[in-house]
Amino acid sequence: MVSFLSVVHDRLYAWYQANGRHDLPWRQTDDAYRIYLSEIMLQQTQVKTVLERFYFPFLKRFETLQSVAEAPLDDVLKAWEGLGYYTRAKNLHHTALTCQGVLPKTPEELGGLKGIGKSTAHAICAFAYRQALPILDANVKRVLCRYFALHVKNENVLWQKAWELLDTKRPFEYNQAMMDLGSMVCTSKNPTCNACPMKLTCQGKTNPESYPQSVKKPKIPIKKRFASVVIQEGKLGLIQRKERLLHGLWGFVQTDKKPEGRFLGIVRHTYSHFKLELEVFQPRYCGKALDGWFDEEAIASLALSTVDKKILRCWRSMMMKSIISNTD
Ligand code: SF4
Repeated sequence: MVSFLSVVHDRLYAWYQANGRHDLPWRQTDDAYRIYLSEIMLQQTQVKTVLERFYFPFLKRFETLQSVAEAPLDDVLKAWEGLGYYTRAKNLHHTALTCQGVLPKTPEELGGLKGIGKSTAHAICAFAYRQALPILDANVKRVLCRYFALHVKNENVLWQKAWELLDTKRPFEYNQAMMDLGSMVCTSKNPTCNACPMKLTCQGKTNPESYPQSVKKPKIPIKKRFASVVIQEGKLGLIQRKERLLHGLWGFVQTDKKPEGRFLGIVRHTYSHFKLELEVFQPRYCGKALDGWFDEEAIASLALSTVDKKILRCWRSMMMKSIISNTD
């Protein structure tokens, strides 16, 4: 007898067959490292950006997890440059060292590695090893909340529902189809229920946007600080960051106290939990210990965060203005 669940799955696969993003490179491999890399890159970054700018260059530099393990952290951070959320790169390096270049094959062992949560562990196992495990990324959570009419996004309940709906015979197709459904049809705004393969049995289709109930996000605070571009004999003085945010990356000194010197401009940057507004100065002296002096060519080989690149551009543009006004 045909079960209710198999009818739901068949409709889902028919839709996925016709509409799914089958050509994504991490869907065309069973190499656990490549799948793991895509999973962590996609945690905070859109598919298009990862695909067009980061996935292939990173793999060109680090073809295997073993090559990540053999490289210094600085090189991994450099290859991650521009992607942001650098903790991901540090965790990747840590994982490569911990498992000596070979990822384990169970969700429990994978989940014990730094930066690999339960859903990522399940994704690696389902996609690389075809294990019957559900995944629960943001898109799948939204589909489940609506399909089961859940107002509250409770992790335990969602995992229970994810297991209920899983196709244990085809975990690869099932999970990929659910992710695509969430990103292409059951979108957070204006879901297209008419085109949805789940519409006949979906409990939330009459008012999909009410599932889950939206939680008002707190306003992001603005932090105002100062950045110093210190120059000595044509070289720029940099520090290698030791604080948690941007740890390991090179950059300019930031302080809460206004430095004395020439004002260069204002640099703004938005992080996930705050906005940073930096007044950039070229001080006469820097009271803080610096970790190195670099000319511009040497700086190009260092891993710099986006905000430090903005500071560098701010300094460069002020230098150009000075040169132009001096030659007028
Ligand atoms: S019918 Fe609508 S609300 Fe339900 S899963 Fe499909 S797109 Fe989402």
